[in-house]
Amino acid sequence: MRQPQLLQQLQGRRLEIVREVTSGVPVKTRAVGQSARRFERLREMRLQEYFRRVGEHANEVFLSIDNLKGIIIGGPGPTKYDFEKGDYLNYQLKEKIIDTVDTAYVDEQGVKEIVDKAPEIMRKIRYIEERQIIQQFLYEIGHDTGLATYGEEAVRKALEAGAVKVLLLSESLDIARVKVKCSACSYEEQHAVKSLMLTCFEQGLIGKPCPNCKAPSLSITEKQELIENFAQLAEYANTDIEIISDETEEGQMLKNSFGGIAAILRFKLQEQ
Ligand SMILES: [Zn+2]
Repeated sequence: MRQPQLLQQLQGRRLEIVREVTSGVPVKTRAVGQSARRFERLREMRLQEYFRRVGEHANEVFLSIDNLKGIIIGGPGPTKYDFEKGDYLNYQLKEKIIDTVDTAYVDEQGVKEIVDKAPEIMRKIRYIEERQIIQQFLYEIGHDTGLATYGEEAVRKALEAGAVKVLLLSESLDIARVKVKCSACSYEEQHAVKSLMLTCFEQGLIGKPCPNCKAPSLSITEKQELIENFAQLAEYANTDIEIISDETEEGQMLKNSFGGIAAILRFKLQEQ
């Protein structure tokens, strides 16, 4: 029976089967006694030799990739765990194993099964990353190191000072910065409006007298989502941006306790 192990590269949306290795491992038989034991030994040897070959191919293919994000091992039986535990893969690659998954099929169809599961796996990994980032922020805050700050104004200042190492933005940061101008007298004011309330806010301006000249000529001249605004500032400052989901407890904390905007700093700021 053929038991191919497919080495595949997942890059962007492209799936490429790089190599296909056949095991040559005999399937279990109904043989009994002496011949059954001999057969079992033979099978074990072949299996190890097969793992070794798969490992060699994987090392050859994957070690040369600079930005390899991770390796997912899959297959129908339990042998994939033996492969994972054994010393078949180069240690650098072993560190990149992000998950081992069961598939119903082998061959290309099995590979497709793994690819289908990959987004879910990548999401899980992303959640772990997000938790680690927030925990680092919480550490700095908790130990009063001066190397973290939060809130719109403080983070904006830190960004402008070039002090932000990592900018943390909650993905649910749904506030827009709005500039309102009077077309009669050029009076201007700024508002922070919940994105969901933006239409409501805009309608509220209709017929509203200008605080300066009393003409009903107020309208929105500029609006920018806060998240975009900060992302832009961070880009100018060459700062890493991490958009944090609400899916973890830490992400909820960022949103609820720190106003959805926080920063880990490169250096302490004077005023803090
Ligand atoms: Zn006016």
